[in-house]
Amino acid sequence: MGVIVSLIRKILLSTLLIGWLFLSSCTTLSVAYTDDEMLPYIEKFMFVTGADDYDMVMVTIKFRTLPDKSAGSCSYVTREISIDPEKWFDYTEMEKTGLIFHELGHCVFNLKHDSRILEGTQCGISFMHYQMQNDRCIKLHWEHYIDDFNGRLR
Ligand SMILES: [Zn+2]
Repeated sequence: MGVIVSLIRKILLSTLLIGWLFLSSCTTLSVAYTDDEMLPYIEKFMFVTGADDYDMVMVTIKFRTLPDKSAGSCSYVTREISIDPEKWFDYTEMEKTGLIFHELGHCVFNLKHDSRILEGTQCGISFMHYQMQNDRCIKLHWEHYIDDFNGRLR
């Protein structure tokens, strides 16, 4: 009898431990944080758009594997931006900047997609084009993209 009781106690304890570990890992995941990798791009975004700490306070950017061809996503509900790590590390600095501006455009300023093409080019009209702009487009049209972006905030 004593053996069974101590066995049950052991099982209960290990269940509690598993439950606790599970809960604590859940808690860690739900604590708001932004990956350090993103900080330079966030600073660039704040500098260019004039967004302040108050604008940014709700937003987090995390690495998370995304389906299909998605490089990033923004949840309007949680203000959480997900960036696909596999794709991220293949991008140039310009492409990373364009991607972060796009997602912050959604999550900080509620900007929607714009599917128009910049006249006479094969580049999107905006960082808010539904397709990510490539390195060449962003380098060629950087000034336009920044003006366009700030124009959408007014
Ligand atoms: Zn988008």
